[in-house]
Amino acid sequence: MEGGCRCGAIRYRLATGPVATRQCWCRDCQYWACGNASVNLIVPRAALQVEGTPLHYESLADSGHHMRRSFCGTCGSALFSEARENLDYLVVRAGSLDLPGQFAPQAVIWTDSAPAWAVIDAALPAFPRQPA
Ligand SMILES: [Zn+2]
Ligand SMILES: [Zn+2]
Repeated sequence: MEGGCRCGAIRYRLATGPVATRQCWCRDCQYWACGNASVNLIVPRAALQVEGTPLHYESLADSGHHMRRSFCGTCGSALFSEARENLDYLVVRAGSLDLPGQFAPQAVIWTDSAPAWAVIDAALPAFPRQPA
């Protein structure tokens, strides 16, 4: 699978599919997903190969994890995020895939932070905060 940012300055290749996919309504994701939830692929770090140099933003997430988010400094597209507490895996933002619809979310997390108008798929497992 391949993906990249909107302007093409950063491209990446994934050697394997995700071990899990999630839709996340945490407050941080609402900033980067324009008010909506983000859709995230959890992939082994070793499977990701990146061309180009993203910028980073580090913050303490509601989960208590120290997150580093990667984005394109030219077009602003959200690309990856990773927790200092779990460096074996990272998160790829599904919207950056060349085929963004190919992995549907398997669970919804941080529903406590979702706005009242949010449409949450009742068929999916939902977690009010970060699942264990
Ligand atoms: Zn870009
Ligand atoms: Zn989130």
